[in-house]
Amino acid sequence: MADGMETESRKLLGRLREEMASEAAGQERLDRITHLIADSMRCEVCSIYLFRDDETLELCATEGLAPEAVHQTRMRLGEGLVGRVAKFGEVVNTADAPAAKGFRYMPETGEERYSSFLGVPIQRLGQKLGVLVVQSRDAREFSADEVYALEVVAMVLAEMAELGAFVGEGAALSPLHQQALLLRGGPAQEGSAEGHVWLHEPRVVVTNPIADDPHRELERLNAAVEELRVGVDKMLEISRGGDTEQLQVLEAYRMFANSKGWMRRMEEDIARGLSAEAAVEKEQSQARARMSQVTDPYLRERLADLDDLSNRLLRILTGQGRDNGKEMPPDPILVARNIGPGDLLEYGRSLKGIVLEEGSVGSHAAIVARALAIPLVVHVGRITTEALNGDHILVDGDEGVVHLRPEDTVVSAFRDKMAMQAEAQKRYASIRETPTVTKDGERINLVMNAGLMADLPSLKTSGAEGVGLFRTELQFLIRNQMPKRSELVAQYKRVLDSADGKRVVFRTLDIGSDKVLPYMKHVAEPNPALGWRAIRVGLDKRGVMRMQLQALIRAAEGRPLTVMFPFVAQAEEFREAKWEVNKTIEREKRLGHVLPETLEIGAMLETPSLAFAPQKFFDEVDFISIGGNDLKQFFFAADRENELVRRRYDTLNVSFLSLIERIVERCGISDTPLSFCGEDAGRPIEALCLAAMGIRTLSMRPASIGPVKSLLLRSNLQEVRKIIADARHRGEQSVRPAIMEYLRANG
Ligand code: PEP
Ligand code: MG
Repeated sequence: MADGMETESRKLLGRLREEMASEAAGQERLDRITHLIADSMRCEVCSIYLFRDDETLELCATEGLAPEAVHQTRMRLGEGLVGRVAKFGEVVNTADAPAAKGFRYMPETGEERYSSFLGVPIQRLGQKLGVLVVQSRDAREFSADEVYALEVVAMVLAEMAELGAFVGEGAALSPLHQQALLLRGGPAQEGSAEGHVWLHEPRVVVTNPIADDPHRELERLNAAVEELRVGVDKMLEISRGGDTEQLQVLEAYRMFANSKGWMRRMEEDIARGLSAEAAVEKEQSQARARMSQVTDPYLRERLADLDDLSNRLLRILTGQGRDNGKEMPPDPILVARNIGPGDLLEYGRSLKGIVLEEGSVGSHAAIVARALAIPLVVHVGRITTEALNGDHILVDGDEGVVHLRPEDTVVSAFRDKMAMQAEAQKRYASIRETPTVTKDGERINLVMNAGLMADLPSLKTSGAEGVGLFRTELQFLIRNQMPKRSELVAQYKRVLDSADGKRVVFRTLDIGSDKVLPYMKHVAEPNPALGWRAIRVGLDKRGVMRMQLQALIRAAEGRPLTVMFPFVAQAEEFREAKWEVNKTIEREKRLGHVLPETLEIGAMLETPSLAFAPQKFFDEVDFISIGGNDLKQFFFAADRENELVRRRYDTLNVSFLSLIERIVERCGISDTPLSFCGEDAGRPIEALCLAAMGIRTLSMRPASIGPVKSLLLRSNLQEVRKIIADARHRGEQSVRPAIMEYLRANG
């Protein structure tokens, strides 16, 4: 780096700092800044474009272009050279702008006179704020040093914007973090909530982006990095011999903490006049910009590690801890980039809602949120950069929408919706103890799905008649290491204790496919949903299966025990598993343990093949539960996790209902109890049709019991069966339209 440039750039930052300290505000300050930059970079033009909304940039200040164009010239994201810088977060540096790809001529600015163009993004921690441009008449490409200098200035502008330095007149300059925002994400747990933002990891605020004394800043940076390294080494020492994934993350941390490239870039930033914390944040911003473009999951994770490490370093430098000294508001809505299941369980039911910037519907955090029945929206871009602690926020977990700092009209519409939901809940509570008997006298058994201790209180509050599916793998998934047998015994005992005599169907470990245990060796499979999962893993890893069976037998302590094997594709798999149960019973007896009073061993029917198993299989099995989520994905060959296809085929498709009917018939021949435990059991219309096809036990999320019961109590299954038969006869693809019509006509 040329020393002259470095001094020049420090001088410019010094002048910017004076500007920040001056009385001027808003537009005036922006104007003066463009003048300073143009002067320092020896360019005729310097312009600042800021985002007016997500898609539009506006020229907000300029030195050199026509002053009338300020607040008039606008461009869409991706449009023209400025739009390109903003869209891709990349530098555009050209000696001949009019000839450059994407150039758009804007006559009102008079820019045709300028040949060279250098534009850099103004961004802060992945949040795009605008574009800083310098232009000059002579045709030249800007040197690497000049590009770098302009990036440093853009970084300072971003910090100044964050500190409200440009707030004043002009709509485009309205302060950050004050506008009402509607953000869309993905619904992951239904329900609505109103409350105030509680940031899981509050943002570090850098109040001094510019520094006078680079030597002192270097010392501060070195001391902080040293503290960081010592901290990471300590964590590594503690983790040795423990969880391998955590070790890998820490090793990656250490690698970054010792990375010469990372240090060198920050040292250069400091030499240009940035403070130590601003240098860390500049590198962090650039890593985040890269993160948004990288699709490789491994690389994304490493960039996320670097992001985490930068946060730690910022906390050391600024002394701002995780604990920001603020009290959690009484109605907290947790906002985080992501959160682990352990942290979420610690917050527990104190949270009213959760909004995650990343996360996914199948993530462990989502599993916990569901168990706690807390509305959750995932994939809400920008939420962690937009939201401030204490901001008013509305979370719509049904639609996957978040309103941040909402306008009054939005608040009142939202409250109306919440009131209606509360009204419905009251209605459901009033029928909680009512047995589910349809108008034509059919008794339907409504039971619930569970998997975590947090689910257990719902047994009482939902009116469930038992647990039709206890997903034992959830306990394994939310941990960092394999649980011990004694821990499992204690957990299963608690489940049976709170069921208080109601039947609980324990499903043995269903891992593989989307459920990957962090501490088990990961096997890369070309098609995991069709791969080594569930009972296939159990039969190949008998030790784990035996340990779980022993734990279940011991937890039962002489009470009835019900065990179910997932993903049985052919009778022989069930026979082998049953043989293992009987062996375990014998062993437990020899060891002097009390045996369960009764033992039922069932199978989940999740592949079409099992529906066509020999009739003898239906005699051998104590009960069958249809795992509709998997059965449907294999029946239609449509991945349940793939957004492109997962909603494509209707459960009420006549082919699928015919398969269900066939299973009902075959179970009927052997008198085998049959239930349905996929998500569809909890959707009222689907539940009604399943009951009409002859299913008498439906297992669903606790929150679905009220709505499903309410519809069944009002329905006549004979009539529904006839509607289905007629629609099928007419050759319709799905019976849904006919059923909807029938329900509308019958109020
Ligand atoms: C199913 O497949 O329907 C089921 C209940 O199991 P899971 O969703 O846990 O795969
Ligand atoms: Mg399944």
